[in-house]
This record gives sequence, structure tokens and C-alpha cells, in this order.
Amino acid sequence: MEDPRRRIPRTDHLLALPAVRAAAESLSLPVVRGLVRGIQDRARRGEIAPAAVESEVIAAVSARRASSLSPVLNATGVVVHTNLGRAPLSDAARQALAQAAGYVDVELDLATGTRSGRGAAARAALLAACPAAEDALVVNNGAAALVLATTALAAGAEVVVGRGELIEIGAGFRLPDLIASTGARLHEVGTTNRTYPADYAAALGAVTGCVLKVHPSNFRVSGFTAEATITELSGLCREHGVPLVADLGSGLLAPDPVLPEEPDAAGALAAGADLVIASGDKLLGGPQAGLLLGRAELIARLARHPLARAVRADKLTLAALEATLTGGEPPVARALHADPAELRRRAEALAAALRETLPDGPAGDRPGEIGSSAIEVVAHDGRVGGGGGAGVPLPGWAVALPVAAAGPLRTGTPAVLPRVHEGRCLLDLRCIPDSDDARVLAAALSALAGLGAPGTNGAPGTDGAGEPA
Ligand SMILES: *Cc1c(COP(=O)(O)O)cnc(C)c1O
Repeated sequence: MEDPRRRIPRTDHLLALPAVRAAAESLSLPVVRGLVRGIQDRARRGEIAPAAVESEVIAAVSARRASSLSPVLNATGVVVHTNLGRAPLSDAARQALAQAAGYVDVELDLATGTRSGRGAAARAALLAACPAAEDALVVNNGAAALVLATTALAAGAEVVVGRGELIEIGAGFRLPDLIASTGARLHEVGTTNRTYPADYAAALGAVTGCVLKVHPSNFRVSGFTAEATITELSGLCREHGVPLVADLGSGLLAPDPVLPEEPDAAGALAAGADLVIASGDKLLGGPQAGLLLGRAELIARLARHPLARAVRADKLTLAALEATLTGGEPPVARALHADPAELRRRAEALAAALRETLPDGPAGDRPGEIGSSAIEVVAHDGRVGGGGGAGVPLPGWAVALPVAAAGPLRTGTPAVLPRVHEGRCLLDLRCIPDSDDARVLAAALSALAGLGAPGTNGAPGTDGAGEPA
């Protein structure tokens, strides 16, 4: 009898199929070959019939995308969600990214045909948004901005910092370790809960490179506490001729009434900080970037340092950052300022549409099937996330579903990340544009429909709140 494996189509035949060639236009040849080989191997092992190889290859090649990152609808209520890539970009920033993807005049003056300052437009947009700054520099991220500042100002010298500000924020970011890696020595002052201007005064001396104030971001010390303010420290620093650097983390350029405790760049500079550091992809709502704002002389020193080249921002970042600052309101700002009454109206509409499809009462006829009374609208506080506004609740509403819906929601298309909390699956629409409400409804319908069918319940997953920063 003929070995059925001899009937497995050959690689060149499969690669030449019109449907495969069409799909392969957006894939590399090694990726296509890998998919083909994998399916041929399955046929050799007898897992699929030789006759099915062609259709399997066409299906696999058509389904494969060049980037495997999946868009996610963020129904957690956490605005700056680290596990979801922090800030979603504004429409203007998305367009700018696409335009900057080709050749662009990032370092060229088209009028004269000569080289120009890299990222001049992003710098100008930052200065327009934060006029308190004399100059600005954009680098790869907030951590890079801090490394550049402490290296340029304090390598071989001391960084004076309050003991209560030696923070760890999210995976792999321990401020003391980062600073130690620059060759600067940490000079800790005060205690975990109380630090006074006099503690800094006693520490300042000939070996001081800079004084660093760090916003603790994702935690708060309360009770018996004291800290030296930027205003208090700026006088001291000026007397000693030492720069005062403030790492704000969050990236607010101006105060936001929703977050009264959150420091902002304009305020910190007005209070006397010489240099302010912030992230681009937290509350600013832009791309990953480290922003340095402040005195022109210090920015120039940082820009001249050899390390600046190692942490420089790419053209995509510069384009998206400029557009974030000059274009329409970014999604982060919209989510932060969402009207609770409007969130409630959207949640009620979603719940009503879901209930319509379900049998009355708590459960349906099929095992696992739920009934309309299992869908509730509940008060739900959103969070800033990303190390901003620690502990500040953002009042809003959520649709509560049975916890078993969480897995199917995450693995559906589009993927929806709910918040799993106290045994329920919560859909908070704060971070979802209302133009996507219909997609959330469709995803929830299909997740709930799956619950009645056996073997479709995924793991509920984690809380959905993500890493702190
Ligand atoms: C988030 C944060 C950083 C790190 O910024 P990245 O952009 O994540 O590198 C540094 N300092 C503070 C206070 C922060 O909150």
C-alpha cells in the first residue's frame, strides 16, 4: 500500500498557490516557510490528512500577521495601564506616527537643505505647552532622563535625596540602583517618613552634584510625615550653587483639577526646580519618552553629554510627542475627565442590550447559561495608574458580569480586558471611546453565549489593574 505521506504537497507547490502568494506579500519568506513546514510535519505525523494540507496552509498564512501585538479594549478603568502599553495615542499622534514612518525631515532644514537640530518641532511644542521652561530635551524614557541628568550633573559626586523618596516603581525600576549605576553616589538624608530642609542643608557640600526630589508616584506616606518642598530646597540649592532636579514621573505639564495632589512641571519650575523630569506616556498621554524641562544652561550640558546620544528619542517618538501636544485632546485626558453621569448612561445601555438577549431570571435552561438578572450596573472607581494619582479614585460605573466571562472576553476578537474584582467581571467604559461601545457589546454577547456551551470558560485572570508603573 502506498505511504499516505507521499501525498503531502511539496513546499514549492504550496508556496506557489495564489492564495499563499497573496497572503505572503505581507510576511517574510522564512515565516511563510516555517508555517508551511509546520503543517507538512503535522501531516507526516498523521495529525491531518495530506488532502487537508493545502487549505491548512492557506488558513495559517492568511491568519498570520507581521506584528503579533493585539489591540485591546481596556475595560479595567485604569487609565494609564502599564501592561497595556500605558497611554493610547491621540488621532493626531497616530497620524504623525504613520507619516514619520518613512523618510522625514527630523534633522534637516528643507528650506536650506542643511542639517537642523534633531526634534526641534517637538522641543518647540513642549516649550509652548510649558512656557515656564527655558529649554527642553526629549530622550527615550523617564528612566533615561534620570540617568542622563544624574550622570551629567553628579557622576563622581553626590546626589542628595530624601530617604522617603528612594522608590521602586514597577518592574526593574529601583531609583537607588539606577542612580548608583551612573557612578554618582547617593547621599540619603532624613528618615522614611520625615525629612526637613535642615537635613539637606547639612548634606550639601563640595562633593554635591545635585539635589534630587522624587515624586513617590505609586504610594503615599500618611500620618506623621514631613518633607522639604521644592520652594524650601530651591533657596538652599541656590545658596550652594547646586542644581535642584525634580523627577515628577507623571508628566503633567500644568495642574489638573482632577488630580490636585499631582505635581506638574510648570508648578515645579515656578517653585524653583532647575530641571524637571517626566514621562511622555503617563498623564501627558503621549508616546514613551523622557522629558527634561528647565534651565537652558543645564539642558545644554545634558544635551552635550555623550550619554545623550545613547538615550536619544527616535523620529517616531518625536513625531507622536509633538502631535500629542499640538493635536486634539489625547485619550488619557478624556478618560481622566470622563463625566460619571455619562459613564453611567453608557453602562446602563450596555447592560440593557445584554439583558435583552438573555432569559429572564438568574439562569437559563442550559447548564452554565446565565439569565438577565446576572447583569448589573454597579458604581466603580477608575484609577489613574502608571504611578500617577496614587489612591485617587475616579468615580464612575461598570457593568458586572459573571466572573467566567473574563477569560472569553480576553481571548475574543477584539480582546477586551475587564477588571476581575470580588468574584465578578467588571466592564468599566471609562477608557473606551464611546464609538467602540458597539464592539464591547458584541464581545460581551459572544463571551456570554460561550458560557452556556461546555468547556469554553477561560481562567478569570488577574485583577486587571496592572503593574503600578
Ligand atoms: C514612571 C516614573 C519614572 C520612570 O519613567 P519611565 O518613563 O517609565 O522610564 C521615573 N520616576 C518616577 C517618579 C516615575 O513615576
